[in-house]
Amino acid sequence: MSVTRYEFNCPNCNQHIIIDHIQTFTPLEIQTICNQCYFPLSFYPQQNETKIRAKTKRKTAFLIHSAKDNDKYPLDWFRPLVELYGVSTRIIEEDARTQPDWLQKSIDGIKSSDCTLVFLTKRYKYYKKDGTLGWKAPDKCYNEIAMAFALGTVLGGKQMFALVENDVDPGNVLEARAWCYRMERQDKTVKSDMKFFDKLDKYTGV
Ligand SMILES: [Zn+2]
Repeated sequence: MSVTRYEFNCPNCNQHIIIDHIQTFTPLEIQTICNQCYFPLSFYPQQNETKIRAKTKRKTAFLIHSAKDNDKYPLDWFRPLVELYGVSTRIIEEDARTQPDWLQKSIDGIKSSDCTLVFLTKRYKYYKKDGTLGWKAPDKCYNEIAMAFALGTVLGGKQMFALVENDVDPGNVLEARAWCYRMERQDKTVKSDMKFFDKLDKYTGV
């Protein structure tokens, strides 16, 4: 067995990517994720070509998130990105029905989707049990997480994947019962835990 080093640039953000591949022959395709923009990529060593990997398997997700104005840019980053992983997100704001209320819309969204995605961002500060200050996402998000866990995960056998801003309380359900990872908001961009996208990548397959 030998190790071959492959180097290429991300077609989306031009990040230089290095992969050390253990092999006995030259692979047709190496699948990876860009560590800067998180796009799913395929590198073809024989053609020396890199492509953004398109998912053929599609899933729908009910997306639990904050609707606050300053959470718009991380959300605008998140939704098209998970789309590349084959996951189309639904949010209750886009449920055009005038009735029922948000609670029933959430229940309908959870029940009619393949999985639940949670994107938690900072809403307000609170005192933790140890007396230090922490952050919470909107209360409504934790209620929706509890509902999605009961109706989607427990009763429906559906997966829940979460990306939580640093220092934000994930709550009991995410902490113990979901695939929960961290992200950090930066100027105009978001720095995320790669493992979140690895999980989604495996969830939707090749
Ligand atoms: Zn990239």
